[in-house]
Amino acid sequence: MASLSTPAIVLRAVNYGEADRIVTLLGRDTGRLSALARGARKSQKRFAGGLGLCAVGVASLRERAGAELLTLEGFDATGGHSALGADIGRMAHAAYAAELCSKLCAPRQVEVAVYDWLAEFLAYLDLEGASAERLRVFELGLLGGLGFGPAIAACAVCAGASHAGRDASAVAFRWDADRGGAVCAGCARGGRPITAAARAALLHLAGLSLGAAFREALAPDVNRDCREALAEIINHHVGGPLKSVEFIAKLSAASSGGRP
Ligand SMILES: [Zn+2]
Repeated sequence: MASLSTPAIVLRAVNYGEADRIVTLLGRDTGRLSALARGARKSQKRFAGGLGLCAVGVASLRERAGAELLTLEGFDATGGHSALGADIGRMAHAAYAAELCSKLCAPRQVEVAVYDWLAEFLAYLDLEGASAERLRVFELGLLGGLGFGPAIAACAVCAGASHAGRDASAVAFRWDADRGGAVCAGCARGGRPITAAARAALLHLAGLSLGAAFREALAPDVNRDCREALAEIINHHVGGPLKSVEFIAKLSAASSGGRP
């Protein structure tokens, strides 16, 4: 019955019984895990901040012999995401980032860079607000950090070998999530066309920091193409659409300004 303590982010929390909660955490030192928080809805002392979605803090956990579910003995909130709950756009992006991590991160696989990427994303979200461009940069960084990054610059199949000597900009590409992203015309078996502008934008976004992403403003059609291309890669790994995506789509349709 080992005790452990780790910086952690709450990816999911559901009520259980009369007073408990079951939480999914991304622990910096543990990877993703689920834990039972006994009395979480009654004890503000042990669970400061109430274990809300995307709360950042230090989790004290106890492993239970033979049980997959750990016991969460305490959670000290350290990140005050004060603006998240007050702004529906920020909350939608936070919920989406959390759902992505809960679906893409393997259980108990330590991914320090992925943890830090999510923590940085949430901090920027709280500080500056929701931005579609930054959400794309987050998706690209998360996919890349987990080894799921799509091929963008060169063909996912031949890595450029079949069009050697020709400038990559002169080669037609298709987008095929099943084969890992951009596939050159010579290798393509399926997929769908992707514009040179969308591929250039994805490549550009892949090189941006989360901070710099906020100052980007892609044309609406390029933005949509990037979102759809990455959604296909994500769906391929998750095995279906994410709940929080529909919510963001509804928000986007309702807002005239194009953001989030
Ligand atoms: Zn190829």
